Amino acid sequence: KVRVRFAPSPTGHLHIGGARSALFNYLFARHHGGDFIVRIEDTDRKRNVEDAEAKLIESLRWFGTEWDESIDKDGGVGPYRSMDRLDIYQKYIDQLVAEGKAYPCYCTEEELTAEREAQKARGETPRYAGTCRNLTPEQIEVYEAEGRKASIRFRVQENREYTVHDHIRGEVTFESNGIGDFVICRPDGIPTYNFAVVIDDALMKITHVIRGEEHLSNTPRQLMIYEALGFEAPEFAHVALILNPDGKKMSKRDESIIQFMEQYRELGYLPEALMNFLVLLGWSPEEEQEIFTREELIEKFSLSRVSKSPAIFDVHKLNWMNNYYIKQTPVERIAELCISHMQSAGQLPQELSDEQRIWAERLVALYQEQLHYAAEIVELAASFFENEVKYDEEAKTVLAEEQVPDVMKAFYEELAALDEYTADTIKGALKAVQKSTGQKGKKLFMPVRVAVTGFTHGRDLNETLFLLGRETVMQRVANVAN
Ligand code: GLU
Repeated sequence: KVRVRFAPSPTGHLHIGGARSALFNYLFARHHGGDFIVRIEDTDRKRNVEDAEAKLIESLRWFGTEWDESIDKDGGVGPYRSMDRLDIYQKYIDQLVAEGKAYPCYCTEEELTAEREAQKARGETPRYAGTCRNLTPEQIEVYEAEGRKASIRFRVQENREYTVHDHIRGEVTFESNGIGDFVICRPDGIPTYNFAVVIDDALMKITHVIRGEEHLSNTPRQLMIYEALGFEAPEFAHVALILNPDGKKMSKRDESIIQFMEQYRELGYLPEALMNFLVLLGWSPEEEQEIFTREELIEKFSLSRVSKSPAIFDVHKLNWMNNYYIKQTPVERIAELCISHMQSAGQLPQELSDEQRIWAERLVALYQEQLHYAAEIVELAASFFENEVKYDEEAKTVLAEEQVPDVMKAFYEELAALDEYTADTIKGALKAVQKSTGQKGKKLFMPVRVAVTGFTHGRDLNETLFLLGRETVMQRVANVAN
């Protein structure tokens, strides 16, 4: 049975690259009727960030890659957090040491740094020189007496080749001679990632490891550990990087792109749109198709159609796609997202009356077609909440047209005379203005729109006028009438 996992380290928010890995694993599992496991790899304690685990899980839950087993859902092979598995790791570390496949190393940080510097100065690629490879019991005793704490190093065999049969990259071979004996357990007794990941993947019966390409160079080390412990290695698939819009590698400070799922959530992107967008960063379907339901993705996803070249993150495409999904979504859901943005911006009160809510939903409905993400509503609808309309040069030019005073006066009178103020009666009022002034089309509607919104473009005019309310409209019309 296919079993795959997403194994984030709690070092920060869920990155789009991580979300894509989670998604590929999820789709692969569902496609094959297998299990998707979410495991927390937190043994690199210096890099752990408080709360990161909870936030990762929350972002993943929002994203929608539902898992079968994790810290909150036991599938019988837990615990699912590395730091809760220390005694499990210890057993295998002891075994490797007993078999001479690993050994204690008493080199200090300072000694190792000095060694690396010297190697670099000689133009060599730094790697562990093997100082503690063959310590005698007496030497060990001396070090222990000095109070040194040992880390445990894996004894890398010489003149070996390790080949990764990668589903995406094909065969990649590594020479063992380029790899120094590496630490599998730190002096504090906590294993390194490269060790813990092997134990966990083996004991959790992971069949396929699908992860970012940055881990490809770790894979030979992991293969050595599988071999040393007599575990069968899983299959591997290393997914190429996501590049920023300039085609460069993303850095943490890269501002050309929003990097974390939480930020997309806050801006009011829809998780299903992100899912559709992210899957296409690396995977492509057989036929020309861009919009997929989750079910279609599950049906069509395969590792053989994941590209080995990096994908470029195209923000415009994401916005286009999110807008597409927003248009398909019931307005109530979009309104909910937009309303909280309008509340944060002070455009709406924190508590809405029924009437206010209905009004706000109608406002969102007016802009739904145009939104790329919910937060945009604040700017798009700004003229509904300003006391005074700001007119830019373009607007002023429109308002300076000669027919404007007549049109405004006539419209004002018509509005004042209305019994009821609805989108329909407003339409009637504009018709009447057309009759009495002889102005129509652009000459009539453009100045009205500009007078009340400040913009020459916008959404349906009657609905806009209705939502602004009679009082505001009359005030704004009066302001430009003379
Ligand atoms: N914990 C690793 C990371 O966050 C994942 C490694 C793996 O998938 O093997 O990058």
